[in-house]
Amino acid sequence: MNIPLTIEGVRASLSKKEFSIEELVSEYLERINANRDLNAFITISEERAFGQAKNLDLSKSLAGVVVAHKDLFLTKGIKTTAASKVLESFVPEYSATVVSRMEEAGAIMIGKANCDAWAHGASGENSDFGPTKNPWNKDYVSGGSSSGSAAAVAAGLSLVSTGTDTGGSIRNPANFCGVVGLKPTYGAVSRYGIIAMASSLDSPGCFAHTVEDVEKIFNFIKGPDGFDSTVKELQSFKPKSKMKIGVPKEYFIEGIDKEVEKSVLQAIQVFKRSGVELVDISLPHTKYSIDVYYIVQPAEVSSNLGRYDGIRYGNGRESFGEEAVRRIMLGTYVLSAGYYDAYYLKAQKVRSLLIKDFDQAFQKVDAIIAPVMPTSAFKLGEKAADPLQMYLADIFTSSANLAGIPGIAIPSGFDAKGLPLGFQLLGSRFSEPILFELGKTYQKITGYKPQLAK
Ligand code: GLN
Repeated sequence: MNIPLTIEGVRASLSKKEFSIEELVSEYLERINANRDLNAFITISEERAFGQAKNLDLSKSLAGVVVAHKDLFLTKGIKTTAASKVLESFVPEYSATVVSRMEEAGAIMIGKANCDAWAHGASGENSDFGPTKNPWNKDYVSGGSSSGSAAAVAAGLSLVSTGTDTGGSIRNPANFCGVVGLKPTYGAVSRYGIIAMASSLDSPGCFAHTVEDVEKIFNFIKGPDGFDSTVKELQSFKPKSKMKIGVPKEYFIEGIDKEVEKSVLQAIQVFKRSGVELVDISLPHTKYSIDVYYIVQPAEVSSNLGRYDGIRYGNGRESFGEEAVRRIMLGTYVLSAGYYDAYYLKAQKVRSLLIKDFDQAFQKVDAIIAPVMPTSAFKLGEKAADPLQMYLADIFTSSANLAGIPGIAIPSGFDAKGLPLGFQLLGSRFSEPILFELGKTYQKITGYKPQLAK
């Protein structure tokens, strides 16, 4: 059965009765079964999906939109593990705001997507339930931490999916799997009911094949819910007749893969042709972003994971995997007496400088274009034994989280190995509508046609 790859397409097929909602759900379940080797799911929620399908009001905006939620999002009555053995049999009492908002709008949950345990990782290989494979080539990683979410959309196992981006975990797997991934502004989408990684950096967002569809999902999940005090309403956006995109010199550095660089430069040309003005800019503190991120983030991780003591939820501390233990130790160290000032406090000061870099840039430009990852997807096992190599993969993504700004990863073709390439657009806080406008322009001009990985 052929399922369209856009929300509009699926809704049109349903209203023309090309297939029923039950047939749609069955088709996705069959595909999930046929693609078990990708390991994109931890839990498949077949009963829940058919239950939702049964009573569905087809007039709802997301009716028939089949979604996979990263297994960090609490789903009432459905096991939620954070891909960790600590929570291997944890069943939540309530759902995350993102989950319940999508459900209310008619979306159908097909399952819980695999990810790096506690969202710690850049390849999906830190999952306690095994790595997710890249649907374009199963010898390669799907990216992380939201590995299964990106792979599911790329392989057609769900139409859309959700994820969290703390240092790149939506944009990175979107880039490696050739789908669109949105990391919203910190405070645009509620973190309520999402297992916390690093609370000042976590941004819940989504994946889809098109910019238009991530925009649609975003419009349902954004905005205050009364449970996350950092969430604000977005201001309305007035489109400008002439947009400016900044090209930061610090993101085009030695070590970046030539094909990745070329593909971003080609995207820049597309924007130029569309009438956007390209401006050279500088974000001088970019070189510190990894260092700052790997102090602030583990500090917050060590605090958030403190609650998993085996008394309140799930299994005891002996069930933590290696990477979680590493981060708890690092975080505890940088927060401890004598080291707090030298590491944590210093990192927070440099974080302010990174924020200032962006604030100054957005005085001059409406958005910034940059690579997402320094290379296309790497091989399974290639970096897994070397945590520092893995941390370096976050070089172009982590600063957006430190500054709390939105970013969208957009596919732009394939490299010689047949692996997806792409770029990211970054915007000032709460400027998602600008990113959507530019992203849609790009996909329109290039005649982008979503396709599934084969
Ligand atoms: N790769 C980063 C890390 O390992 C980002 C993780 C994320 O965004 N959740 O911390």
